[in-house]
Amino acid sequence: STPLVQVESLQMHFSMKGGAFSRRQGTIKAVDGVNFKVYPNETFGLVGESGCGKTTVGRAILKAMQPTGGKVLYNSKNGETIDLVPMTNKEIRPYRQEIQMIFQDPYSSLSPRMTVQEILEEPLRLAGHTNKDFLYQKAAEMIQQVGLRSSHLMRYPHAFSGGQRQRIGIGRALITNPRFIVADEAVSALDVSVQAQILEILSELKAKMDLSFLFISHDLSVVKYLCDRVGVMYLGRIVEVADTDALFKDPLHPYTEALMHAIPDINEREIRSDILAGEIPDASNPPSGCAFHNRCKYAKDKCKNEVPALRDFISTFNGKEIFRQSACHFVEEIYLQSNDKEII
Ligand code: SF4
Repeated sequence: STPLVQVESLQMHFSMKGGAFSRRQGTIKAVDGVNFKVYPNETFGLVGESGCGKTTVGRAILKAMQPTGGKVLYNSKNGETIDLVPMTNKEIRPYRQEIQMIFQDPYSSLSPRMTVQEILEEPLRLAGHTNKDFLYQKAAEMIQQVGLRSSHLMRYPHAFSGGQRQRIGIGRALITNPRFIVADEAVSALDVSVQAQILEILSELKAKMDLSFLFISHDLSVVKYLCDRVGVMYLGRIVEVADTDALFKDPLHPYTEALMHAIPDINEREIRSDILAGEIPDASNPPSGCAFHNRCKYAKDKCKNEVPALRDFISTFNGKEIFRQSACHFVEEIYLQSNDKEII
């Protein structure tokens, strides 16, 4: 089917000029040629260690930051495909209702001076709705959808727990009936038991409202629970894309493999930067060739000199052919070596 969102060669480079506080100069390639697609009704996960650029990708798609290159193609409700990157805020406004965001921190993302009703109604007001009965009715419906009561509408955010606030944040994102949601570390600030409830609500509402998600997280167990496909990022690039099951049980890229092996039990959760051999390199001065070469147990000379492209690859998993992508010069050899497998 036609992708809902197609990110092509997305780039976010920052130049550092040095100065009074830092002598560092050069270009930070926070996002350096990222490609992926999100299909209708799909949850696409973006994972990686902190500093890998995943949050910047989310912000670039929403134009909270202006990308320095590439395309973000969005297939809108009325069937046209538009590139969000060159568009002005004014040009994007008609599509704002279709693309929404769920923020990480439920404590700082809700205005303390607005009631829950005002918070929920705000995106509709911004979209030009003014009828008070309509607005109230929508807010009352939404608050119940996220598992709270209409009596909560009159209260202010400080009266709620972190989990309840995140429910309000989800309600605010969904009230305009969007099609695509960017959720950046949407449950990371919450206790594990509360996380489970929020994830359940997200998957329920996804099914009910036909939503697609870009779900950005450093927490592998959350990604495993919620996502259909996953892209793994390392130093500003995607190194592997695969179905969630295949990625977790049969990682193809050496970086993904190292991540999975470094976490003995998936319930032990988060990607910690200290569990892989070697330091994450400095983003302003990344290694030449494959940026993972200083930490990769398979690295050869070629890896230091040539940047590997993200290539299509078909593996077998559970007797099925799985289409996936990996950015490694030696993907075929490593696949054959590790598993006694055949390449199709
Ligand atoms: Fe390792 Fe080389 Fe593959 Fe990079 S290209 S992941 S260094 S084997």
